[in-house]
Amino acid sequence: MTTTRFAPSPTGFLHVGNLRTALFNWVIARKSGGTFILRLDDTDPTRSTVEFADQIKRDMDWLGLMWDRVETQSSRLDRYNEAADELRASGRFYECFETPTELDLKRKKQLNMRKPPVYDRSALTLTDAERDALRAERSGHWRFKLDQERIEWNDGILGDLSIDAASVSDPVLIRGDGQFLYTLASVCDDVDFGITNVVRGSDHVTNTATQIQIIEALVGTVPAFAHHSLLTGPQGEGLSKRLGTLALKDLREQGVEPMALLSHMARLGSSQPLELQQHLADLIDGFDLSSFGSAPTKFDVADLGPLSAKVLHSMGISSVQADLEALEVPGDLAAPFWAMARENIETRADIAALWALCRDGVEPVVDAEDGDFIDQAMKLLPAEPRSDTAWKEWTTAVKAATGRKGKGLFMPLRKALTGMEHGPDMSKLLPLLQNIGGR
Ligand code: GLU
Repeated sequence: MTTTRFAPSPTGFLHVGNLRTALFNWVIARKSGGTFILRLDDTDPTRSTVEFADQIKRDMDWLGLMWDRVETQSSRLDRYNEAADELRASGRFYECFETPTELDLKRKKQLNMRKPPVYDRSALTLTDAERDALRAERSGHWRFKLDQERIEWNDGILGDLSIDAASVSDPVLIRGDGQFLYTLASVCDDVDFGITNVVRGSDHVTNTATQIQIIEALVGTVPAFAHHSLLTGPQGEGLSKRLGTLALKDLREQGVEPMALLSHMARLGSSQPLELQQHLADLIDGFDLSSFGSAPTKFDVADLGPLSAKVLHSMGISSVQADLEALEVPGDLAAPFWAMARENIETRADIAALWALCRDGVEPVVDAEDGDFIDQAMKLLPAEPRSDTAWKEWTTAVKAATGRKGKGLFMPLRKALTGMEHGPDMSKLLPLLQNIGGR
């Protein structure tokens, strides 16, 4: 049984980069009828907030990426303590006392000597007396002792990978102030929750190598790992600085449609072409993790506007039911109104203006030379309720009565009824207009 997790830290807002990770893990779980866990990585009490956690849930809910279970790391500290004890007992955990400045100095020396800046394990050579003396002075942090061998795995996106553990510093798992770091918490959770597949950003590749050893030390089962490429801006520039402006909640406010965003993200960076879907469930079958490439993936937020409009243009009424109800569109008008409206909106927010046009009408716009023509036309307007053919009947009658045709016939009528030179298909709009002539 497949179990995946999406593990954001509630220390900020979710952005498009996180969304890829969330979506991939969600799809993998759903594809096999497995379990998708939302895990809140909130071991840092100074930066994690309930507000961010709530917003993460709202964003996921907006996208329809529903989870089967929520787990919070802050409620599992006892378990992390136990795991730390296990690692101590098996001789894989050791206490270190270097200050950040000392570590920095060591790194600089190594770099000067053209050596990789890997922690030199000098804490392992401390005598008991030295250790006691240091303990009296400051609190130690704890490192996991890597087995210095090659760590190999077959990555679901990157293929066969191997990292020499000797080229990586023994990871710090508990800080001097006692805070459990992400690595220990994450590994414990992955083991305890039976995570079978982990997809995350390629910035985690080195973490994966060390995590594989920690999982093995805790006698857990190593999940299948896959690392997706990171997103860049349209010119290939790093997105990290701009991610703050690509928060999901902001995209939502700007009118981005969930299915536009999700369809785009399910294919961006893959060899498969974009297929705009209307329902999340339709993304599942065609999704293929192995079709994604390792190269950084260009993302242009400007693509989301046109894609959202496209999604709206073919959206079924069930997806806007709540919007139509909020606008109090009467039930019998909902279907014809939506058939007209969806072709004429860029975002959902535009629905309101079209409904206002139908319900309230507008102040007619009539050019001086069209005054008599419009007076004459209004007398010929079919009575309510107007049928689907009302526009055709009306314009045929007006044409016969006035001799006007083409643009000279249609444009003044459109302007008188809608106040605009462009807009909805008049034959779809006319039967919906309830207040011709304006307020
Ligand atoms: N909280 C971690 C992050 O957001 C989770 C990484 C992981 O998937 O293990 O980077």
